Amino acid sequence: MASKTKFQAIRGTRDLLPPETALWNRVEQTAHEVFATYGFGEIRPPIFEPTELFARAVGGETDIVSKEMYTFQNPTGLAPMVHEKEMVGTLAEMSPESEMISLRPEATASVCRAYIEHNMQQLPQPVKLYYMGPMFRRERPQKGRYRQFYQIGAEILGGPDAPAIDAELIEMLMTFFDKCGLQGTELSVNSIGHAADNCRRGYVALLKAELEKVKDKLGADSQRRIETNPLRVLDSKLEYEQPIIATLPRIADHLCDECKTHYAAVKHELEQRGVIYRENWRLVRGLDYYMRTTFEITAQGLGSQNAVCGGGRYDGLVELLGGPPTKGIGFAIGEDRLILSLQESGKGAAPQGRDVYIAWMGERAYATAIRAAKDLRNAGFRVELPPTELKFGKALERASKLGSRFALILGDNEVADGQWTLKTLADGSQQKLTEQALLEYLLKP
Ligand code: AMP
Repeated sequence: MASKTKFQAIRGTRDLLPPETALWNRVEQTAHEVFATYGFGEIRPPIFEPTELFARAVGGETDIVSKEMYTFQNPTGLAPMVHEKEMVGTLAEMSPESEMISLRPEATASVCRAYIEHNMQQLPQPVKLYYMGPMFRRERPQKGRYRQFYQIGAEILGGPDAPAIDAELIEMLMTFFDKCGLQGTELSVNSIGHAADNCRRGYVALLKAELEKVKDKLGADSQRRIETNPLRVLDSKLEYEQPIIATLPRIADHLCDECKTHYAAVKHELEQRGVIYRENWRLVRGLDYYMRTTFEITAQGLGSQNAVCGGGRYDGLVELLGGPPTKGIGFAIGEDRLILSLQESGKGAAPQGRDVYIAWMGERAYATAIRAAKDLRNAGFRVELPPTELKFGKALERASKLGSRFALILGDNEVADGQWTLKTLADGSQQKLTEQALLEYLLKP
């Protein structure tokens, strides 16, 4: 018996529908165009990878890897074609050695894996790559937070130790947001030094000691982080922790000379490029291979989930994944949030109506209508050709419901004397035009 189950998209996932998808396309097209002008090429890595790749690159201790990944066993060999009922048996037979794979929660790990796998260190350095596509994290869904969400990201791998690389990447990002029409963007930057005793490690030890002194005044999460990852305490959004955090030592005062010089040069380069930023000493990343430049962009209209982009330098990552020592820096834009912000500020896509609705009646007129539709579409117009015959009154009603600008009326008379009727729906005016004159009229700006 057929079940009456009404299927719904899984919690945290959603359908992107017209007319909103037109806005998604516009944003993605803008990314293709802007990134190309900075010499980036597109990479399309797979959507699933060995779990171990993410465990290593993102960090086994992070929430993303420890709680939020969609992980499953990849059966070894070719799975036999089985009937649904036999499926359970097949799963049970999966060998214990079959590898664990995960839906990607982010794409930097894949890009670095691809850089190593395809020996991209042999290409002229640095290699500049960008990607766009869905990512998967089992987070608690809310506005601006989904389990399948989309990122547009870019990575620069290899090349010299030059602050100009950091600055140009950020300049490109801000140009992209500007071209999208994103409102109220704020760029925050910071430097988190590098993992050495005379730099970040020394700072973290000092931070930990200071946090121990105020431990009793902090919440449970922060108390735990003093042990696991003291830098993460700086991420806290808890109201009552803010005055305490404000008194903690700041990393900028504890950077080694090289990191200090690098940070100053990045800021100077941003100024030369006219990129407006503010410094936020609390902008940190909890993983060892993150170093020096970190940045974040917030935009308006997003409530508490107002970060549209995060990025940073990660010089140790390629090596951590088994490649040669390689410099790296990148960012990931939350496309869902970017779209939300554009919609909130009235920059969403206008519903797209048809240009021309062809109202036809009669066999002969239908043959002409088919030809006219083809020619108009060839010329780039959006055309609606009703698949069944409608009385002219009904057809015109449909035409305005679809938001058409014009109705092309084709009946026996029009076909017989070669003078077609074009109705402008906004004011109801009508004119008679030859086929050639019609095309010229429509093409006029
Ligand atoms: P991350 O990869 O965590 O640094 O995130 C980069 C950007 O992706 C964030 O600034 C958000 O805009 C976006 N993002 C991260 N997680 C989600 C999610 N669950 N839903 C929607 N956007 C997200």
